[in-house]
Amino acid sequence: MNINCEMARDLLPMYKDKCLSSSSEKALREHLLTCQPCRRYLREYRTRQKEEVAAPAGDFSEIARRLRQHRALTELAVGLSMAVLITYGILKTVKKESV
Ligand SMILES: [Zn+2]
Repeated sequence: MNINCEMARDLLPMYKDKCLSSSSEKALREHLLTCQPCRRYLREYRTRQKEEVAAPAGDFSEIARRLRQHRALTELAVGLSMAVLITYGILKTVKKESV
């Protein structure tokens, strides 16, 4: 089976993920053997994929850091509210007893 460059490039993502049927993979391999631009495209595609996989790591650590910060602030706010309520309760009790 002969495929053109457009078909070859459509198949590359599945080729990289090893999801192609054996006949499609054979056709793509044959095309890549004879087509320098598609070999370069595959190389660039793989490089791009690695960069895309590597990029989110930084983003997630930033999100995780913000979540920890947010949780710490929430716990602080809850803690302060509890302290205020407890103090209010104690003061009210003390006032009631002193009357
Ligand atoms: Zn080609």
